[in-house]
Amino acid sequence: MSDADALMPIPGAIDPVPVPRAAPVREDARVDLVGLSRDAVREALAAAGLEPRQAKLRAKQLWHWIYNRGATDFAGMTDIAKAQHPWLAERFVVARPEVVTAQVSTDGTRKWLLRSPDSHDYEMVFIPDADRGTLCVSSQVGCTLNCSFCHTGTMRLVRNLTAGEIVGQVMLARDALGEWPSQPEGRMLTNIVLMGMGEPLYNFDAVRDAMRIVMDGDGLGLSRRRITLSTSGVVPMIARAGEEIGVNLAISLHAVTKEVRDELVPLNRKYGIDELLAACAAYPRANNARRITFEYVMLDGVNDSDADARELVRLLRAYKLPAKVNLIPFNPWPGAAYACSPPDRVRAFSNIVFEAGISAPVRQPRGRDIMAACGQLKSAAEKKSRAELDRIAADKQAALG
Ligand code: SAH
Ligand code: SF4
Repeated sequence: MSDADALMPIPGAIDPVPVPRAAPVREDARVDLVGLSRDAVREALAAAGLEPRQAKLRAKQLWHWIYNRGATDFAGMTDIAKAQHPWLAERFVVARPEVVTAQVSTDGTRKWLLRSPDSHDYEMVFIPDADRGTLCVSSQVGCTLNCSFCHTGTMRLVRNLTAGEIVGQVMLARDALGEWPSQPEGRMLTNIVLMGMGEPLYNFDAVRDAMRIVMDGDGLGLSRRRITLSTSGVVPMIARAGEEIGVNLAISLHAVTKEVRDELVPLNRKYGIDELLAACAAYPRANNARRITFEYVMLDGVNDSDADARELVRLLRAYKLPAKVNLIPFNPWPGAAYACSPPDRVRAFSNIVFEAGISAPVRQPRGRDIMAACGQLKSAAEKKSRAELDRIAADKQAALG
C-alpha cells in the first residue's frame, strides 16, 4: 500500500494520532491546483517547465481565476494566452469534490455526501439563517477520538482530508449557492465552522493551509472572525492554532468533572480539564469581543444537573475565560447510549450560566431529519463499505462465538 492510500485503523480509545499522508495522486497524473498556496502553484508551474518570472505571474492569475472567479476550466481564463490553455490542461486540473448525494432538510439545511478520488466519503452541511449562512466543514474522514455520544466517532476507518479537499468543500458550496465571484457583500455563505467530521487539530497542516486560502483576500476572502475551529481538546496544538490559523476557538467541553468527561470525551484522560482551560486562557487574541465558545451537549442525567452548571461557571471564572457557552441538545443516532435532556432541564441549566453573566444560548438542532445535525454525520458515508461491514459482522460473530 502506498502512503497515498494509507488508512488509519483505530488502535485505541484515547489518542491515536493520524499519520500525515501524501495527497492522493490522480489516475490521470494531473495535479489539482485547488488547495495549493500561491507559492506552491508557482513551484508546480516551474517544475512543469515555465521560467520563474512567468511561473510567478501565472500563479497569481490562476489563483485569481480559481478562488475569486470560481473557474474550473483553463479555457475561460482570458488573461492567460490561449496557446497556453492546452498546456495547462494537460498537466493541471481545477477540481471539485465529487458529489455522491445532496439532501435538503425541511428546515432548509443542506447536506452533501462527497467522495474523494481514492473513494473515501465525507460530508459537509450548510445551515442557512435569516442573516447568515454557516458551512460546516469536515477535516477528516471519520474521527479517531471515539467520543461516546458522537456518531462520527464510531467510524472505523479514518483518513485525513487534504487541504484541497477541505477548501474544496467551501468552493463546492459557493458553486451550489451561485456565489462567484468572491465578493464581500451579500453572500449567503458568511461563516465557516470546522465542526463536521473529524478532529481538526489532528490534521493541523492541512486545516491551516486550507484556512489560509479561505482567509486570503485574493483567495476566498472570508474574515478570520467568521471562522470557528472546534476541538475536543488537543491541548498541545491549541497555541499553534491561535498563532498559525488565528480563527475563533470552540472547545467541546461537555462535562465539568474528570469522571464524566473521561467517559464522554476519552481524550480527557490524556489532557484533563484544567490543562485544557489553561490552554484556552492563553489562546492568542481571545478577549471579550472575541470569546471562546464552550460547547456543551445536554445528556439526560449525565452532565445536566444544577451542580454541573454551577461548576461550569466556577471553572470559567477560575480561569478568567472570555467565554460563551453553547448548549447543544443531544442529537440522537441509531444505537446511541444517551438521551437528550428534557427542555426544562436545558432551560434551568442555561439560566444558571446566564445569571452568572455568561451567555448560554441553546442551539436549535438543524437538519436532524437528514442526519445533518451536530454529531450525526456518518451513516451515509459508511454505506459504501460493504467489505468493512462484512468484517465488522465477522468480528462480532467471533466475539460471540
Ligand atoms: N471533532 C471536533 C469538531 C467536530 S464535532 C470536536 O469534537 O469539537 C462538532 C460538535 O458536535 C462538537 O462539540 C461535538 O462534541 C458535538 N457533538 C458530537 N456528537 C453530538 C451529538 N450526538 N449531539 C450533539 N452534539 C454532538
Ligand atoms: Fe471526533 Fe469530535 Fe465526534 Fe469526538 S465529538 S468523536 S472529537 S468528531
